[in-house]
Amino acid sequence: MSEIEWGRLNAAELNELARRDAVVIVPVASTEQHGPHLPTSVDVMLAGNVALRAARRAKDTPVIVTPVVWTGLAEHHMSLGGTVSLDYPEFFCVIRGICRSLTRQGFHRILLLNGHGGNIAALTVAVNELARELKAPIATACYWQLAEAAFGQILERQKNVRHACEAETSMMLALAPDLVDMSRAADVVGPTSREIAQVTGTSAVHRWQSFAARTSHGVIGDPRAASAEKGERLLDAAAKAVADLSGNTEFWALPS
Ligand SMILES: [Zn+2]
Repeated sequence: MSEIEWGRLNAAELNELARRDAVVIVPVASTEQHGPHLPTSVDVMLAGNVALRAARRAKDTPVIVTPVVWTGLAEHHMSLGGTVSLDYPEFFCVIRGICRSLTRQGFHRILLLNGHGGNIAALTVAVNELARELKAPIATACYWQLAEAAFGQILERQKNVRHACEAETSMMLALAPDLVDMSRAADVVGPTSREIAQVTGTSAVHRWQSFAARTSHGVIGDPRAASAEKGERLLDAAAKAVADLSGNTEFWALPS
């Protein structure tokens, strides 16, 4: 199997991959609280693992994975502890610097693979700006949204990824069971406050809320239903969806 990790390749090998128009996956994550039963590196580990699995599955198109961007927009978790956050201007500068470096090395098919809900809006704006500035088909997607249908089939108590939930806890049980304390998962089912959609009857309205205002313990979803077996299936489903997108030459060739 050929090498897929940017950091394990040398410059000449990366130049050759640029010449072959390799797709570059940049996993973009966050470091923040994930309740009392999970470590703060959940988003880093999951986004990074899905990206590597996807690159390994890719067949005709060479796909490589950069190191994970470990901090994103997590101010909404700050008051619960364990959280490191950037503000949007800084976050945009980090993403811009990475994308600009990649395009200067000759790569242009760039997928910012998002592993953190708080980054979604920011990455969408960043992609809109950078695609024009760098004249490259830069894309962003959340792995769990790409695999939405499969995730809905695998999960029993929720439709998709929430936070420190059935899905994230399952995937962590599959990857790093020593970092998961299931004895503390029993008491942390959330949200513990009424949600905006319950009050307004619509999910169309957005308002900033801290996580602490929505859930006293930092969990949204039901981690009690988590299992390593489910986690393995979720990671594979996500990897398949990301591999399909990465290798979709028609998608990358669409005009900007
Ligand atoms: Zn997160």
